[in-house]
Amino acid sequence: MPVTHYRSCSLCEATCGVAIEVEGDRVVSVRGDAADPFSKGYICPKGTALADLHHDPDRLRKPMRRDGDTWTEMAWDEAYDYVGSQLTAIRAQHGPDAIAVYQGNPTVHNLGLVTFGQLALRTLGTKNMYSATSLDQLPHMLAALMMFGNQLLMPVPDIDRSDLFICLGANPLASNGSIMTAPDVKGRLKAIRDRGGKVIVLDPRRTETADKADRHVFIRPGSDAVLLLAMIHELFAAKLVKLTVPATGLEELRAASATWTPERAAPITGVPAAEVRELARALATTPRAVLYGRIGVCVQEFGGLAAWLCYAINALTGHLDTPGGLMFTTPAIDPLPLAAMFGFDGGFARWKSRVSGKPEFGGELPVTVLAEEIETAGPGQVRALITCAGNPVLSTPGGPRLERAIRGLDFMVSIDPYMNETTRLANVILPPSSVLEHSHYDVALAAFSVRNVAKYSPPLFERHADARHDWEICLALWSRLGLPGKLPRFAQQVVTRLFGKLGPETVLELGLRTGPYGLRRGRHGLSLAKMRAHPHGIDLGPLEPRLPGRLGTKDHRVHLAPRTYLEDLPRLEKVAGKPQSSELIMIGRRHLRSNNSWMHNSERLVKGPDRCTLLIHPEDASNRGITAGGRARIATALGSIELAVEITDEMMRGVVSVPHGWGHHRKGARLSIAATVAGESVNDVIDPARIDALSGTSALTGQPVEVTRAP
Ligand code: SF4
Repeated sequence: MPVTHYRSCSLCEATCGVAIEVEGDRVVSVRGDAADPFSKGYICPKGTALADLHHDPDRLRKPMRRDGDTWTEMAWDEAYDYVGSQLTAIRAQHGPDAIAVYQGNPTVHNLGLVTFGQLALRTLGTKNMYSATSLDQLPHMLAALMMFGNQLLMPVPDIDRSDLFICLGANPLASNGSIMTAPDVKGRLKAIRDRGGKVIVLDPRRTETADKADRHVFIRPGSDAVLLLAMIHELFAAKLVKLTVPATGLEELRAASATWTPERAAPITGVPAAEVRELARALATTPRAVLYGRIGVCVQEFGGLAAWLCYAINALTGHLDTPGGLMFTTPAIDPLPLAAMFGFDGGFARWKSRVSGKPEFGGELPVTVLAEEIETAGPGQVRALITCAGNPVLSTPGGPRLERAIRGLDFMVSIDPYMNETTRLANVILPPSSVLEHSHYDVALAAFSVRNVAKYSPPLFERHADARHDWEICLALWSRLGLPGKLPRFAQQVVTRLFGKLGPETVLELGLRTGPYGLRRGRHGLSLAKMRAHPHGIDLGPLEPRLPGRLGTKDHRVHLAPRTYLEDLPRLEKVAGKPQSSELIMIGRRHLRSNNSWMHNSERLVKGPDRCTLLIHPEDASNRGITAGGRARIATALGSIELAVEITDEMMRGVVSVPHGWGHHRKGARLSIAATVAGESVNDVIDPARIDALSGTSALTGQPVEVTRAP
């Protein structure tokens, strides 16, 4: 008889509830859990792929060691000892910075890695910490640190109570929300319109979200900061500023926007001046409204400025910390103290990268400097790499150079279930148990949820006796590597054993009990036992105003105009005055059936028409002799890729779009299904030197490209 288990899907940020029907050791079906109080039965097509990931024959089950091109299985202890001895020797000879760590974004979705994974990796004592943060949301985190006093204090749109949702550089219908945990965004946006509200999308592409909006406005890639400054200018000019939170920096912000009239901004952004005025007025005069900016705002040359201005404009219009606006969450487990424990509570430019002097953020360096840190000889040179749930060869600009650099390392170990385009270069791969074999609680994502909710899921399958959870792997490595100079080896082994016995559930219990809904609510407070008794999750109510109490700034005020940003404005002035390039500008693209590079080995997710294509406007195509169904060559100084073409007026003129996460043809990877739909990696042609000079974030969007008809 099939048995149904309830848990959260951990494949993206939306945390949908799923009902998984199991017969013996096989998953029979995956459906949306109608009783989940947050997702109410919604799942996207990716949710059903949980079964594919679990049963995937390509998923590694045993530690693997590479000798040349030959891989052999290892026993776990043998693998731990080998990895431990290699890394210890490198550290003893070259110092702690000789070991670099790269963490991919699935880390954030994983209870074991958010807890013991961080403990093990963040206490290695290396300054060469890297992650997908600098390819994604770093500018939002920097703005949270500068304006609200903690990098994790990123407010989220209170989408369920908004009557105006202005969406800038985001496509939540494809992502299902990002830094906005919101299952069924499509339904939530429809609800805004059903209650008489409006959805407006600004994007260089008429995206899936734009298709469902009241209005779509094209905007030139990388010009978001200019648009926002012009809107702020209009707010001051029309006396529409209405601060409802304690704040500093109002006059500085007025001065910063003084020269950015809508007329000046129009030729730079492509957004008519009248439209800018209308947007500013609508935002200011709609009682429950929000401006939400996301990936397109972040991964560009002015991502730092744009992310700051997104938060600032919500504050200026009275929509920060108010229902329907941009609000702070009250998660059942407060991630702020946990992050502080691992030194992840904030800090910017406390040190610079060794070779090109890029700023540290939150204890990490921008990942685009990893290749040069490996290649450049001298004290502190990276000689070993630990990757965890990541695939930087595909996800980092200048992927081929990074691959060459990695090949030159003395040693590399990957904690990853797959032999992907990056882990195939490792000396050892340590594959963790499947996602359905470990317990789950969204410690990180619940902090960005549009409603306060809590949900715990026990393992659906017992892990095989010869499998290891990722947190067990991390602890095993931690015990062999030791905390440099902090704890005697013996004491560390005792601590490791203790942590191993306790497991992440102990951290959960502690987090729940000490959290806002825990012991202070008496015997009705949240505990792990209570979570176990509610397998569909517990609704903790709508978001509530949290300021000024939640602020981490010393003066308990929102800092509207931090000096870091004001000092970056002259850079914007300089570039914004330049004539427009005659080249085409490339932006990225996300698909509902994909999530970066790690969802392409599921047959049901990749079947159908080729998705790794170039989107181009009809006039841009015709000017280049490119015809429908043909192929195009996309070239930069770094090289070129060739893709099938889709000609469509959903693209702004002068802008083309290529999705990321593809390029599965590389020799040595073991992703049999992904290899049949290989595509090309857009990061083969994105210049790693194109960064936001303020934050170090990669400028993945806005890359000038030469597009020609391919033979
Ligand atoms: S939207 Fe995200 S969390 Fe929900 S089912 Fe799809 S992949 Fe899973």
